[in-house]
Amino acid sequence: MKKRYRVGILGATGAVGQKFMQLLAEHPWFEISAVAASERSAGKPYAEAVRWKLPAPIPARLRELEVRNLTPDLDCDFVFSALDSSVAGSAEEAFARAGYPVISNSKNHRMDDDVPLLVPEANPEHCELIPIQKQRRGFDRGFIVTNPNCAVVGLVMVLKPLQDAFGVEAVSVTTLQAISGAGYPGVPAADIVENVIPYIEDEEEKIETEPRKILGTLEGSAVRPAGVTISAQCHRVPVVDGHLEAVSVRLRTKASPAEVSEALRSFSAEPQRLGLPSAPARPILVREERDRPQPRFDRDTAEGMAVVVGRIRSCPVLDIRLTLLSHNLVRGAAGAAVLNAELLAQKRFL
Ligand code: NAP
Repeated sequence: MKKRYRVGILGATGAVGQKFMQLLAEHPWFEISAVAASERSAGKPYAEAVRWKLPAPIPARLRELEVRNLTPDLDCDFVFSALDSSVAGSAEEAFARAGYPVISNSKNHRMDDDVPLLVPEANPEHCELIPIQKQRRGFDRGFIVTNPNCAVVGLVMVLKPLQDAFGVEAVSVTTLQAISGAGYPGVPAADIVENVIPYIEDEEEKIETEPRKILGTLEGSAVRPAGVTISAQCHRVPVVDGHLEAVSVRLRTKASPAEVSEALRSFSAEPQRLGLPSAPARPILVREERDRPQPRFDRDTAEGMAVVVGRIRSCPVLDIRLTLLSHNLVRGAAGAAVLNAELLAQKRFL
């Protein structure tokens, strides 16, 4: 495997873009060589264009990088996309057509038949859609791979071991989602302080459809969606980072809370076998305390790459219920994309 890749970040000035800058500053395989954003930022040094919102300072080496516009002529081997969805669809397609592999966070191409919607712990075999996509769209070196919605990643990582061990028939999920999930400046303080908003545009539809593709089976040139029915209710809550989800599951084969706990606790998958640099040693951490997980205490578990699960117990309506937490900007966005890129590099797609 080639040991060092030069990478570009599209949307580098946004909430997810900043997390990319932080996560990649010391990455063993990837080195940021280009950044791009809107016309508002283009032409400025990164430190001047960005409204930096992370506690640690901007990595020194990246402060002076000139922000470029979205023309696909960046000096890099592949790009991560953290673009606003109003521009991501066409920009990502243009970069892929110009020969850049595009590892995207945005929703635009997630449900395209020939685009992998990838969670390396759940469906690494869906990478095999890449040659099909290239052939179908007439791409040469470029292609598009996506990661799911920030509330979907944690849910899928918990459903995958349950699907493998017991089968999953139905899921009811109520989310409590952090304000950073809406980007920056995101939700106005006057709306969210001392309040809960029981609506996030398009979110419930994403949670009800994306897991079916990710947990689906690759058959020939397409993914057959998993036969699981999902009901989602989404809420924005006054938490800065970390999405909490209350989940009830109907299993095909009945299992006790102890058996479910063991299936989650012992889960290990392709990223762990391959030893990918961003893979958590244990993708799921099960906590025994009756009041965990909590966003403030648990979101940075395994540097934000692990899903934390607690309160596993019987459900009188479905079979099992539990609470899960994942860091929306790390495992739900930038970290997910970095892990996808590591998998693609290891499998020689980059
Ligand atoms: P954000 O903070 O609003 O950042 C959006 C980025 O897109 C900025 O870099 C912005 O550049 C750029 N942009 C906006 N309009 C543009 C244009 N016309 N041309 C070129 N660049 C443009 O949003 P975010 O929360 O980081 O989200 C980025 C993407 O990731 C979205 O598609 C979102 O749905 C997805 N996502 C977000 C999360 C999360 O937890 N926040 C999780 C998963 C996925 P300027 O600064 O120059 O305006």
